[in-house]
Amino acid sequence: MNTSHRYSREPYDVLVVGGGIVGATLACALAEEPLRVAILEHNPPPSAPSGDYTLRVSAIAPSSRTIFEHIGAWSDMQPQRICPVEEMHIWDSGGSGAIHFDSADLGEPCLAYIIENDAMLAALWWRIAQCDHVDTYCPSELGAIEVHDDRVTVHLSEGGHLSTRLLVGADGARSIVRARMSISSTRWDYAQQGIVAMVAVEKPRRYTAWQRFLPTGPLAFLPLPDGRYSIVWSVDAAQAEALLAQDDAGFLESLQAAFGERLGNMRSSSARLAFPLQRAHAQRYVAPRVALIGDAAHTVHPLAGQGVNLGLLDAAALAEVLLDAHHADRDIGSLATVRRYERWRKGDNLAMLVLTDGLKRLFGSSISALVQLRNTGLDLTNAVTPLKRTLMRHAAGLAGDLPKLARPQQSAPPHA
Ligand SMILES: Cc1cc2nc3c(=O)[nH]c(=O)nc-3n(C[C@H](O)[C@H](O)[C@H](O)COP(=O)(O)OP(=O)(O)OC[C@H]3O[C@@H](n4cnc5c(N)ncnc54)[C@H](O)[C@@H]3O)c2cc1C
Repeated sequence: MNTSHRYSREPYDVLVVGGGIVGATLACALAEEPLRVAILEHNPPPSAPSGDYTLRVSAIAPSSRTIFEHIGAWSDMQPQRICPVEEMHIWDSGGSGAIHFDSADLGEPCLAYIIENDAMLAALWWRIAQCDHVDTYCPSELGAIEVHDDRVTVHLSEGGHLSTRLLVGADGARSIVRARMSISSTRWDYAQQGIVAMVAVEKPRRYTAWQRFLPTGPLAFLPLPDGRYSIVWSVDAAQAEALLAQDDAGFLESLQAAFGERLGNMRSSSARLAFPLQRAHAQRYVAPRVALIGDAAHTVHPLAGQGVNLGLLDAAALAEVLLDAHHADRDIGSLATVRRYERWRKGDNLAMLVLTDGLKRLFGSSISALVQLRNTGLDLTNAVTPLKRTLMRHAAGLAGDLPKLARPQQSAPPHA
């Protein structure tokens, strides 16, 4: 892959800062059009994972699969390493309330796909390398930003500068683009860590995900193709430190006590990693000649597995808005153009942020009236099929005003 700096096509129409899953998807979505696109990323792009699974995986909604298919990246995401999720069981440790989601109720082949983040990144960067219209600056570091009436000038830390009609901040939760544009963000640090590991159990259930709500936070078991599970365990900072310090036997014992017996005995665990959990929402997604997408605009608790999926819908919506403006011969960096993207996505993202935050708080409470309420709520939702189906459609990214790239053209085979 050629990741050397290529300055020939400057000035650009769109310069994307951040080549994570969301930024790389936007670059791919714009790549087929005669727009001059560049992507600037400070890490070298990862190569496709081989051997054992890597620890960072994501639950990818059917709408996200559709986006990946439309931009030509899905088939390179190593199908043999992807696990479809056909069923999901959620239950409360503080009572008997439970809910069971089944893809058959949704009329879809599955609820989600478990994919390694590196597999997505490698496929997206491979796609970018095939695109004549996309220049890559990687590894490269963002320096100063100057916004002019008709363009943005971006300085590179290693020297040189680039001009673009629109600058897109896809540079994650600690976005420098957002900070340099003085866009404030409402932020809440949960003082929690998400511990991730791969775990083997005595009685695995294929294609089934599990999530138990504990007073300390949710514990999710996401299925992998080889029968093991990728776990995400949200705990307070002190508990995270203690769990990371345990040897494997001690950790498995703690995990067993937290999860219970539904999958039999916990048998073995891989190495563990921890990630800080926070909630954040930018007050604006756009400014003249600037737009924010993905975690740069919003960060949600991982309990509903929605962060990447919301970011991919941002990328698809922004691509559609920009291409519409380009075809209508309008300025793609004008505030009027990018505001359409903000109007489209901000409400939906905020709704998901409020929902996941509310669930986090509701299930973290030990006030008995709330414990009773949430258990009744779980049972009721489980019993009322239309309500359950609505929830599933939202989580699968199949509801609402979907960008064209996220709209399925035909139903996809479940395990392709
Ligand atoms: C434990 C855990 C589990 C999760 N599970 C799920 C899940 O199951 N499903 C789901 O949908 N979401 C999940 N998420 C959320 C998900 O990981 C994030 O929402 C997603 O990674 C955001 O992608 P992004 O591309 O916007 O940002 P990032 O992944 O943060 O990418 C930003 C990119 O910008 C680059 N960058 C940053 N600054 C600069 C700079 N100054 N110059 C150049 N480049 C720069 C970075 O190197 C990086 O490549 C989970 C999160 C956690 C913590």
